Amino acid sequence: MANTATWKYRCLFVGPLAVAMLTACGPGTGSQDPVERFAYVDETRIRASADHEWPSHGRGYDEQRYSPLAQITSDNVSDLDLAWSWDTGTTRGLQATPIVVDGVMFTTSSWSVVQAHDARTGELLWRYDPEVPREWGALACCDVVNRGVAVWRGMVFVGALDGRLIALDARNGRVVWTVRTTPEDEPYTITGAPRVVRDKVVIGNGGAEYGVRGYVTAYDAWSGEQVWRFYTVPGNPDQPQEGEHLMAALPTWSGEWWVAGGGGTVWDSMAYDPELGLLYVGIGNGSPWNQALRSPGGGDNLYLSSIVALDPDTGSLQWHYQTTPGDRWDFTATQHMILAELEIHGERIPVLMQAPKNGFFYVLDRRTGDLISAEPYVPVTWASHVDPDTGRPVETSVADYSESPQLTLPSPYGGHNWHPMSYSPDTGLVYIPALEIPFVFGPEAQFRYRPGRWNLGIDTSLLVPPGVLEEELAIRAMVKGHLSAWDPVAQREVWRVQHSESWNGGVLTTAGDLVFQGRADGVFAAYRASSGELLWEYPVHNGIIAPPVTYKIDGVQYVSVMAGWGGAFAVASGIPPAAGNVIRDGRLLTFKLGGQGELPAPAPVSAEFPAPPPLEINDEQIARGAEVFHAQCSVCHGVGAVSSGVLPDLRFMTAESHEKFHAVVLGGLYRDRGMVGFGDVLEPGDSEAVQAYIIYRAHVGRSERHLQDSKIEVDAS
Ligand code: CA
Repeated sequence: MANTATWKYRCLFVGPLAVAMLTACGPGTGSQDPVERFAYVDETRIRASADHEWPSHGRGYDEQRYSPLAQITSDNVSDLDLAWSWDTGTTRGLQATPIVVDGVMFTTSSWSVVQAHDARTGELLWRYDPEVPREWGALACCDVVNRGVAVWRGMVFVGALDGRLIALDARNGRVVWTVRTTPEDEPYTITGAPRVVRDKVVIGNGGAEYGVRGYVTAYDAWSGEQVWRFYTVPGNPDQPQEGEHLMAALPTWSGEWWVAGGGGTVWDSMAYDPELGLLYVGIGNGSPWNQALRSPGGGDNLYLSSIVALDPDTGSLQWHYQTTPGDRWDFTATQHMILAELEIHGERIPVLMQAPKNGFFYVLDRRTGDLISAEPYVPVTWASHVDPDTGRPVETSVADYSESPQLTLPSPYGGHNWHPMSYSPDTGLVYIPALEIPFVFGPEAQFRYRPGRWNLGIDTSLLVPPGVLEEELAIRAMVKGHLSAWDPVAQREVWRVQHSESWNGGVLTTAGDLVFQGRADGVFAAYRASSGELLWEYPVHNGIIAPPVTYKIDGVQYVSVMAGWGGAFAVASGIPPAAGNVIRDGRLLTFKLGGQGELPAPAPVSAEFPAPPPLEINDEQIARGAEVFHAQCSVCHGVGAVSSGVLPDLRFMTAESHEKFHAVVLGGLYRDRGMVGFGDVLEPGDSEAVQAYIIYRAHVGRSERHLQDSKIEVDAS
């Protein structure tokens, strides 16, 4: 960390084309010439959010992701075509929101790599690779993704997967300062985009599936010095707590939750109201998920699954609203939050809107945190409704999975996950990339806390009951997704576009009466914002999960999106990749009316299901292998050992890979590719059992293929 560089970032900002003409500039000689204030984003600029740019993560501090640009409209969007594309050279998930200011696009790709492009042509101006050690990939619950940078007064800030927060010079990508925001020996990761408020860079982290204590930290933008840190859950009650809010939270916990951290990570959403002077932060799930193992006496477990309003200068708590008291489903409240003014009962009210994982769409008065309304935006089985008087969900019998497994909606993927929504002030609607994914919750029988490893306390193998392929396929058939146009005042769906696949991309709305969304089936699409009518589609041959942005340069409006299949669902769900979702290198794509760009044709993908080794194993070994696999391996290699398209499908392992199996699993032979060794946590015989389970699943996969083939024959006859 160095703050010696501070002076020069107060004086030296030039456009990228003028870099060659630069000469050094000493302290106190700062110029106010706009040309020398390249990427000089500040609070005034974000609050004004000029039509032609995208200066902050959600475009404005209100995070509406709505652009007033209207060159591309519902009338001419059929002429939208590729302007340019750029290959990221990665094959993992792409989730970034590009920032576009002063003609330059700043974005990130997998492994927290930052790049700056000429936003007109795509030309790469610079690239910065923080060289995250690949073994950190094993600590990332949800792929090695990054949701983008923040740009502020000539600097670009990125949170690296391994816990560093790095400030770069916007002109050339050179490091200005670096701070480590997490303890080096604990399984924290950063995937979220920083926000900058009042010259402070705010960043949280993830890791609640592994066993960490959640917090969010603000750093001085000039120096990288820590200004404040807000812990979301109390620590060991025998030690002093780091704030009054934690003293208030203590009675809502029991047992020894702090041993496994308690969870409550701040891994994605924030919003800021400069007038109220409130920073809103979304807080994640409990660690472990199973509350009986985390806080055996129950309790609300504050501030898990809560939205909190903080003083951005001190980090002190102003109000909180807990969406899921005593969370035991991974029902995070880290989902996108949108600030707007809505007319409710004849009064203009400043609201905060969120569709968290738990399935209810919340409208809060953002001055106080009071609940205005909450209604289910997807099917919800764990609660019947939210009590308007108490603001608490009313749980059903499905909520209790302590005795018997419960088929539950929504799932830990949520009714809506990190994929940003959008609010259009023109239509008054919120556009939600909604998920319909069921899940079977049941306690993990042999749970023991394994420091630094996967610690859920639930049994994910329940989704793939051994020997009952039809049941597995029935659960899989329920998995869908849709784009929902939601009226936040009436709390009802106005229209819906049903998608064939789940885990579709984030959303952008524009004044051209348009909603843009990329889809899991490898298509980028535009819909009429008022009706949902499909107006335009462009095949990109790669599942899109990222949210699009739009900007205007030299009178031309552009729309950009990153295409790269990945994220939690794509590594862990055990749902095979979608037809059309051909896995290829990730790309940054930019469109304009009458664009002349072309994408190369996708390489053909083999549909072969190679013959697995013979099945010479007993049921006991398969059962043990299933248990170990789902406790330790399925987070990356998919429930049921089925790849969802990011990592190789283990069922297709060659004889050569099978020979190396134990050297990889126990010895960490592929550590430099992200596959760390598990010799320290596995018992003797576990590796053999896991291998047996994978071979068993390969045979199940072959019979599933056979089942599908025979079904096709039946359907065709
Ligand atoms: Ca989680």
